[in-house]
Amino acid sequence: MEVKCKHCRKDLFNEVSTWLLTSHGEIKKSLMDVGCGVHDLESCSYLPADNIPEWIECIINQESWTKGRLHCPHCNNRIGSFNFVNELKCDCGQFITPPIRITNSKVDILFDIK
Ligand SMILES: [Zn+2]
Ligand SMILES: [Zn+2]
Repeated sequence: MEVKCKHCRKDLFNEVSTWLLTSHGEIKKSLMDVGCGVHDLESCSYLPADNIPEWIECIINQESWTKGRLHCPHCNNRIGSFNFVNELKCDCGQFITPPIRITNSKVDILFDIK
């Protein structure tokens, strides 16, 4: 899976093991995989707390694992946010969303087609 910043087109996650989750915490297999947020225009992807790319971990460390915004490390465009303070529920209220959120409209997500 490749995730690029839509603004500067540079890779955001180049670790092989990075995967994105739906609001239900399931691994996304396609862009249409959104958990329950199907009619959500600002649909998002999520990252698991136990598999965080290094540059994101740095930002989270700076905020002492509370909450804040994520910006592209290359062009500083806002791409998402994180929240380790409150547990946020997804739209249907049945699942707690993973703590790191990436706004889909700010990034290009390329899925490996195998
Ligand atoms: Zn960028
Ligand atoms: Zn849901």
